[in-house]
Amino acid sequence: MSNQSEWISKDFGVFKLRFRPYTLTLRHVFTVASYSRSTTPVVLTELEYDGIVGYGEASMPPYLGESQESVITFLNQLDLSAFNSPFQTEDILHYVDQVAAKNTAAKAAIDIALHDVLGKIMGQPFYKIWGLNPNLIPPTSYTIGIDTEDMIRKKVAEADQFRILKVKLGLDTDKMIIETIRQVTDRPLCADVNQGWKTREEALEMAHWLAERNVSFLEQPMPKEQIDDNAWLTEHSPIPTIADEGCQRLVDVPALKGVYSGINIKLMKCTGMREAKRMAELARSLEMKVMIGCMTETSCAISAAAQLAPLTDWADLDGALLIDNDIYDGMTVINGSCILPDRPGIGISRK
Ligand code: MG
Repeated sequence: MSNQSEWISKDFGVFKLRFRPYTLTLRHVFTVASYSRSTTPVVLTELEYDGIVGYGEASMPPYLGESQESVITFLNQLDLSAFNSPFQTEDILHYVDQVAAKNTAAKAAIDIALHDVLGKIMGQPFYKIWGLNPNLIPPTSYTIGIDTEDMIRKKVAEADQFRILKVKLGLDTDKMIIETIRQVTDRPLCADVNQGWKTREEALEMAHWLAERNVSFLEQPMPKEQIDDNAWLTEHSPIPTIADEGCQRLVDVPALKGVYSGINIKLMKCTGMREAKRMAELARSLEMKVMIGCMTETSCAISAAAQLAPLTDWADLDGALLIDNDIYDGMTVINGSCILPDRPGIGISRK
């Protein structure tokens, strides 16, 4: 679909909803263990109440099963005419969640816009409404996709300001990639294997090898279906393991205790800010680590995720930095730190 697409508008009385497809273009072709791509489809939303416009976004990387078409179909099914105030947040988002199963990115596009409206009505950024200290947001990692030695060196040089690099592993080039990076920097790394290792023995050997090279944690080392293997690895690994593909929503969290050291929360997996915050609090209560991640997204969804990042141990909020056609200003990254603007709601404005 073209980026010139018209807004589709729905009038529900006090609420007005607009949405349109938009295609993000990536600065570099992005390769992980299972695919490569140079664009990411998103759907932008605007939810209007009493003249106040909240912004939202659904981002659809190919492996999650949503598309611009499925998001638009979902949004077209919504009927918000039973609601008369955005402060009916629980009722509204409960209704949205039960309209159809899955569709988590489409649901997030409503959740984010609704939180933006609420913050704007209250005149405060959402992290303040939640009572969170923005100085506790961890420095964001910056992702280095699987690539050739020359391109990896170039990407590491470009990532100069970041204090932690996230390295995509899971193909037969893992040691080459880490050794190439270690020739040019001794900064901490984290490794995202995207389910790429197939046996517990291979995974444990790599965990030790990576730990010796200052890799802080392992994201989704083996296929999510290999529960026993992931639990065995977590028990024996010298560094923490984090579930990403293996953890989508709040309901998944309790069973992951003991299988992984922690979880990677993403708004697009879990239907948005409301459920993401609950997941962070539940994981904490289970003494699990918490990471906040993202897809390739505009500053809209990134700034929404950053509102709850003070609750996390690690932040991976580089999604808007990987694209060259962001249409919003929002969270910025300065010397690797996530800086939230002191603006109400999710803190973004149209460029
Ligand atoms: Mg991941």
